[in-house]
Amino acid sequence: MGIRTVEQYKQSLRDGRRVYISGERVDDITRHRILGLTVDTIGAAYELAEKGDQKTKELLIAKHPETGEPINRFYVTPRTAEDLANRTKAIHTLMRQTGGLPFGKDIGTDCLNAAMAVARMMGNKQYEANAKNFLEHLRKNDLHTCGAITCVKGDRGKEPAHQTHPDYYLHVVDKNKEGIYVKGAKIHITSAPAANEILVVPTRQMRENEADYAVSFAIPANTKGITFICRNGRGTWSDKEFHADRPVRELTEAMIVFDNVFVPWERVFMCGEWKFSMAIAYTFATFHRFTAISYKVPSVEVMAGCAVAMAKYNGLFKVSHVREKLADIAAYVETLRALADAAAMKPVMYGDIAVPNPLIANMAKLHFASKYHEFVKLIQDIGGGILATSPDKRDWDNPEIHDYLEHYLGGHDCTTEERLRMIHETMRHVASHESAFHEVTTVHAEGSMAAQKMMILHESPLDKYEKFAKIAAGILPIGTPVD
Ligand SMILES: Cc1cc2nc3c(=O)[nH]c(=O)nc-3n(C[C@H](O)[C@H](O)[C@H](O)COP(=O)(O)OP(=O)(O)OC[C@H]3O[C@@H](n4cnc5c(N)ncnc54)[C@H](O)[C@@H]3O)c2cc1C
Repeated sequence: MGIRTVEQYKQSLRDGRRVYISGERVDDITRHRILGLTVDTIGAAYELAEKGDQKTKELLIAKHPETGEPINRFYVTPRTAEDLANRTKAIHTLMRQTGGLPFGKDIGTDCLNAAMAVARMMGNKQYEANAKNFLEHLRKNDLHTCGAITCVKGDRGKEPAHQTHPDYYLHVVDKNKEGIYVKGAKIHITSAPAANEILVVPTRQMRENEADYAVSFAIPANTKGITFICRNGRGTWSDKEFHADRPVRELTEAMIVFDNVFVPWERVFMCGEWKFSMAIAYTFATFHRFTAISYKVPSVEVMAGCAVAMAKYNGLFKVSHVREKLADIAAYVETLRALADAAAMKPVMYGDIAVPNPLIANMAKLHFASKYHEFVKLIQDIGGGILATSPDKRDWDNPEIHDYLEHYLGGHDCTTEERLRMIHETMRHVASHESAFHEVTTVHAEGSMAAQKMMILHESPLDKYEKFAKIAAGILPIGTPVD
């Protein structure tokens, strides 16, 4: 098959999966008020691959490296910097052309690429073949995947083996000739209820007495014992909003409960090799932070655009303190872009798999997360208090008060409606329920800042820095080798 239509994708979700939202069991998520939006958001990517212009199709649809058949771009295992850069370009195009994050393949392939690289590191031919066969399954059937890494974790101060019960981290509870049984729960999993396949990777390093927790596999979403408990979403636009004519794009996260779920051996990529649990979690994190910084660039571009437009509509574009803030806004966006590009251009080769540069990918994610709230503050500052108090679309549409709004809420070189539309777009990003969600997401999704700093420390040449200082201080002689 290679490339599915959006209808084929939707039909594949009517498979008896066990999904709950707000305490209600949902039989057909494609028709649900909230979950249907997730399906449509992912569906937009299927639509674009099917009906987009030639250039877009060439970006979203790649050639199978061996057979030349069409496959989704995300299913190209990166071998070169160009492959990584094409993945970023595909993400940018998907976001700009659909107005959302229509991801159904990114995080799953981040998991699979990591599993493949680590299977080779282990020298385990069976796991490597399992990963390769699973990739062919995804390619052939153009499946939507989610990546389930984050365990619920219980007491964060205790390791998996020392928790009050063994299930705070997903683990193997039984094994036989056919496969393994797993128990536990993964949480915050993006787009999970709308996935065809769930890819599981350990959330952290495991020790010798935690070998049962060192487990990685792929499993269909409708497998017996799997339950999705979904977060509630924003729902469709209301008539209070200026965007009523535009589709809502959002992805729901879910907790996935694995209640003694059977996984056949051919779907297993790690089982008990605790010494490699760190390698798989680390390699996944590198791939995934690269994916993250790729999709964050278009997100912050739109927000920066709101600041520029609001500065102009408020007649303040040429005022020096506003220009200084716009310079800081542009510097934030462009530093992120430069780091994202550099992470692709300087990959680290794990055998023949090109892994985005771990140091740069983590620096980019840390830059994004640690400065995001300051970036939001600058936009709030430029926009003005109207971002908190603006009348809404119903006020605008009411003839009894419309003329007051038209008369009093005008600005510079724009219609009042244009100014109000831009105010509401800006509110979405910096003064709404949605923007608060993104502020938390920025800090935690793709790992906390502490996790990024840990990887930056690990990847940085601290010994070299020290040697340079010691040479400068005369503690080591000039000419001391530093490499
Ligand atoms: C919107 C959203 C989407 C997400 N999508 C996915 C997804 O698709 N798949 C997936 O697997 N995950 C996903 N995540 C999860 C994300 O990776 C986690 O939120 C992140 O790793 C932090 O874990 P946590 O939420 O359990 O926070 P916690 O672990 O509770 O962290 C809270 C704070 O405690 C610190 N901390 C935690 N443990 C320790 C410790 N032992 N020692 C010292 N400090 C510690 C952290 O550094 C942080 O500062 C998503 C998260 C969000 C918000």
